Amino acid sequence: MNAVVIALLLSCASQESGAADQAQQFQYKAGLARTVITPQEPIRMSGYAARSKPSEGVLHELWAKALALEDLRGHKVVILTADLIALPAEVCQQLAAHLKDKHGLERSQLLCNASHTHSGPMVGRNLSVMGAGFDDAQRQAITKYTEQLQVKLAEVCDAALADLKPARLAVGAGKCTFAINRREPTDKGVRLGLNPKGPVDHTVPVLRVETPDGKLRAVLFAYACHNTTLGPDIYQLNGDYAGFAQLELEKKFPDATAMFMILCGGDQNPSPRGKVEHAQQHGQALAEEVARVLGGLSEGATALKLVKSHIATAFEVVKLDFPPYQRETYEKQLQDANRFRQQRAKLMLEAFDRGAPVRNVDCPVQAVRLGDEVVLVAIAGEVVIDYALRLKREYPQYNLVVAGYSNDVPCYIPSLRVLREGGYEPVDSMIYYGLPGPLAENVEELVIAGCRKVLRQVGIEPAQQQAAGN
Ligand SMILES: [Zn+2]
Repeated sequence: MNAVVIALLLSCASQESGAADQAQQFQYKAGLARTVITPQEPIRMSGYAARSKPSEGVLHELWAKALALEDLRGHKVVILTADLIALPAEVCQQLAAHLKDKHGLERSQLLCNASHTHSGPMVGRNLSVMGAGFDDAQRQAITKYTEQLQVKLAEVCDAALADLKPARLAVGAGKCTFAINRREPTDKGVRLGLNPKGPVDHTVPVLRVETPDGKLRAVLFAYACHNTTLGPDIYQLNGDYAGFAQLELEKKFPDATAMFMILCGGDQNPSPRGKVEHAQQHGQALAEEVARVLGGLSEGATALKLVKSHIATAFEVVKLDFPPYQRETYEKQLQDANRFRQQRAKLMLEAFDRGAPVRNVDCPVQAVRLGDEVVLVAIAGEVVIDYALRLKREYPQYNLVVAGYSNDVPCYIPSLRVLREGGYEPVDSMIYYGLPGPLAENVEELVIAGCRKVLRQVGIEPAQQQAAGN
């Protein structure tokens, strides 16, 4: 047999298997599970220092939801979302240890994202300085809630992994405009307000999870906006606009699970805000946009694209530095009239006494790549929008979805611009996070370097001219 005949035979064989290969390259397995995590008794809420008493009832349930994915080679990732102010590092680490023991998953194969609702319970040690005035019973209720939460999170991830069945994934994106930059420049510096000229990113990324014959099983959608439509005067537990958006989608698609991921909304607020009606209205707007994108025919929305079956994950912890400071600073602040400043000073001095003053803070960063069609970059903390805009600029050839509030919320993560401008996010918020003060000016370069590192580990490189320019 000569070479031409062999080539012809090979080409026929490959044509027959071509159609099967075509379908096979999009074959995933997906598993879903959800569980109610609403506290069963009144509990101190988190997000606003101005609240004076525990929660009073429930507006709607809070949920933890898990999506497990497996590619053709058997590589898995679990994406966990929760209607909570944060999923602190200790909670995520304990969950990751469970998934390692029970399912052999590495740390990079678990992505945790909390919606940052300010109408939910305090969780673990997150924002603990806000609890400076809590009594012992209130503190114990938070500890007990966090322990119960830990068990439920393990159960919901186990259940999602037990539910893996053939699935297809598709991605698209829409747009929603209720987020507004909240860093308002004034004569006295930047304050929390409205800054219509400030940077925003109104993209609504959507991941559709469907059965092999196209039936919707789940939708993972995301938005870069603080989950703070409701203010400190609200004492009924609820998931704010993100909670309403999920409810609305599950009403539209009763057989599907709707999961929300918050993106880099550190300096973004919903507008208008203050009333339950506003939270409902934003939730509805977001749900309607997601529903349109799910149809794949949305005007102005990207048509849905099937995702090739390939999962790659990477996880690193970046250490963010604080500028040098002296013990005396906090000895003075111990006399401050403000009880939160006082409490922060106490924490700083205790750290000195232990011989371990706080010199840096851990910021986990993660990349989860799905085919060539989407890459989730998940950064810990209250990440400002500059990071999403910069990373998207540096990787224009990829569909990057840049999330904040992932795998821990140690503090705000300001860009260099925001850090230099000052204001609540880079400076005042550090009191409530129990940290010494603004981060050092290398924060943006450290976080970006961490993101580049995990992106490189999943095979994603910046665009040529950008790489050369840096
Ligand atoms: Zn916040």
